[in-house]
Order: sequence, then C-alpha cells, then structure tokens
Amino acid sequence: MSRGFNFSAGPAVLPEPVLRELREVLLEFGDARAGLMEISHRSAAFEAVIASAEARLRRVLGVPAEHKVGFFQGGATQQFAMHALNLARPGEAADYVITGTWAEGAHKEAKKALDAGVCWTSAPAGHTHTPQPGEPLDVRASAKFLHYTTNNTVYGTQCPAAPEVGVPLVADMSSDIGSRPLDVGRHALIYAGAQKNLGPSGVTIAILSPWAMEQSAACAKARGGLPVVMDYKAQIDKGSMYNTPNTWGIFVLERVLAWMEAEGGLATFSAKNRARAARLYAALDASAFWRPHARPDSRSDMNVTFRIHDPSLEGAFVAEAEAAGLLSLAGHRSVGGMRASLYNALPDAAVDALIAFMAEFEARRG
Ligand code: PMP
Repeated sequence: MSRGFNFSAGPAVLPEPVLRELREVLLEFGDARAGLMEISHRSAAFEAVIASAEARLRRVLGVPAEHKVGFFQGGATQQFAMHALNLARPGEAADYVITGTWAEGAHKEAKKALDAGVCWTSAPAGHTHTPQPGEPLDVRASAKFLHYTTNNTVYGTQCPAAPEVGVPLVADMSSDIGSRPLDVGRHALIYAGAQKNLGPSGVTIAILSPWAMEQSAACAKARGGLPVVMDYKAQIDKGSMYNTPNTWGIFVLERVLAWMEAEGGLATFSAKNRARAARLYAALDASAFWRPHARPDSRSDMNVTFRIHDPSLEGAFVAEAEAAGLLSLAGHRSVGGMRASLYNALPDAAVDALIAFMAEFEARRG
C-alpha cells in the first residue's frame, strides 16, 4: 500500500518531509541517546524545542511581542470552557457569532460560566454563510468580548475578515490557522487545536493579549480560583510547563512551523490555498450534478463541502474515491454529503486528482 491523497478534516495530512524526520527522532533525538518521546520535558533538549516552537509561531503568525503564547492539551473543546472562565466573571456578558457546530459548542460551554448571548446566527439558513465585512453584529454594550469561529469545519464556510466591533475579539481558528495572513493584534485571544494545519492532535495553541492576561488573573480571583489546567495565566507564567506538556505534539508543531517558514510562510500558503480551492469550486459550479453547500461569499478555502444532486450516489462517490486513493471525503457525520479538506500540507496534485475523479464519476453516473 502507498500513501493516498488525504482529505481528512482532522487529524489531517502532515508534510511528508516532516513525517520522515519524525521517523528518525522516534528512536534517537540529537545526542540524547533516547527518542524524543522518551526524554524529560525539563531537559535542555526539550526546553530548546518548546522555545523554538514559540519563536517560530510568533514569526509565522506575526504575533506582537506583548502577546503571550501558550500550549495546552484538551483540544479546542477545553478552550470553549477556558476562554469563558478566564475572560469574564460570573454573570458578566459576552456575545457569540453562531456559524456552525463548533461555534455552538463554544457558546454552550460559555453559558455555564457567564451570560453568553447570540449576536448573529446562520442557523436558520443551514449555516451556509458567515458575517460579511461591514455587516452589523448585534453586540451588547455590556459584552466583555465577542467570540467567533474563523472557519467552520463542518459546514465549509469561512469568515472573509475579522468582525469590526468595539469589544475585544476571541477567535476559534482551529481549522484555518496558518492558512492565510491574520491580524493577531486585533484579537484578545486566539485559540486553535493543532491537528489541521499545524501538527498532531493533543496540542492546542492560545495567544493572549495583555488585556486577556489581566482578565485571566482577575476572573480567576473572582471565581475563587480556577483549576490550574484551566487557568491561562497560571499556565503561561510557567511557560506552558506547569505540568508535563505534550512533548511529542509540541515537537511536531515546531517541525511543521519550520516547514512553513521554509515554504515561504502565510503569504505562500494563502495564495496556494485560495487558488486550488477556487479550482475545486469552479468544478462544482460547472455542473448541476454537484451542489456546493456554502454561499459563494462565505466559501472556505480549507473545507469544501458539497452534495450530489441525487444524494443516493454520495455513498458510492466516497467509497470509489477512497478506492482510488482519495481518502476521507465523507462529510461530517452530522451533515453527510462530502467534504474535501485542503489544508496546507495537502499537495496541489491531490486537488487535481479529485477534480479529475469527479469528472470521471459524473460521466459514469450523471
Ligand atoms: N473548533 C473547530 C473549528 C473545529 O474544527 C474543531 C474540531 N474539528 C473543534 C473546535 C473541536 O476541537 P477538538 O476536537 O480538538 O476539541
């Protein structure tokens, strides 16, 4: 068997040169005479890894010097609760932009910790779109922050830009971080699970502004203290090493970031991602056989979601694609249909192969 083209939504394809390096460090890392997973997180060798991961993340994403970076476990799902506990006191307000499953997840968790409102939702339209630049969001004057999801992995929509509002922004960027330039400085908090564009599952990054760090201290106090794994300030003040971090995950993240820098960084990836998603959408738009889900102004460059005009053909499409080496094209289990995830590490040839396969399938079954 050989490696196929992997369209998985996450955990997802990793850059092949990185995978080859990982194979080596499994057995022996540098002169440690032990594998990377077998050495102490307090060793000088690992301290250098985590420092380099942070430095590269700062360079790649353009993180302002005064913002803090932390590495967490627990996935974006932990962040759904953690941002709420750290950024508002009990009873204080925050508003949520509901663009899909994960935004709903964040809102649901936040309701346990604060007065979480909904200021915009695409639910009545079946989550086909996101807020557009200049579109008013009904944010309460009392809101401490606005939470939004930059890219909706399940529905295949992506916000064209950060919302323009007068309150601090909190963003779940799990499924498009590292795929396009972003203005980190405009955000009080950015969080993202690594397992799409940045590395393996089990490591989650968070980037906090000075305001968010102050809120973390004040809100933890107002809540009578937070469990230490849920406390941004406690964790970040200890360099994300209060307890044992995910050493393997952070190492892989560091290597993926090195690969991204060598490839030319966000400018390169955003141009590449935009161009190939456009090719795939053009193929979907070219025939009534296919039914792309997202409204054109809200289409995601990362997760392209679509149906077939006759949904009874979708099972065969996914199975035949899999047999042809085009892996994991089934849509999220909650919505069905198809989803092609086009993360940074996916080769361009994968998208060309998918488009060719779609044409061939349509010719046979259309
Ligand atoms: N947010 C987004 C945008 C996601 O795509 C996902 C997972 N696919 C999550 C949150 C949840 O992440 P996790 O499973 O790492 O908790």
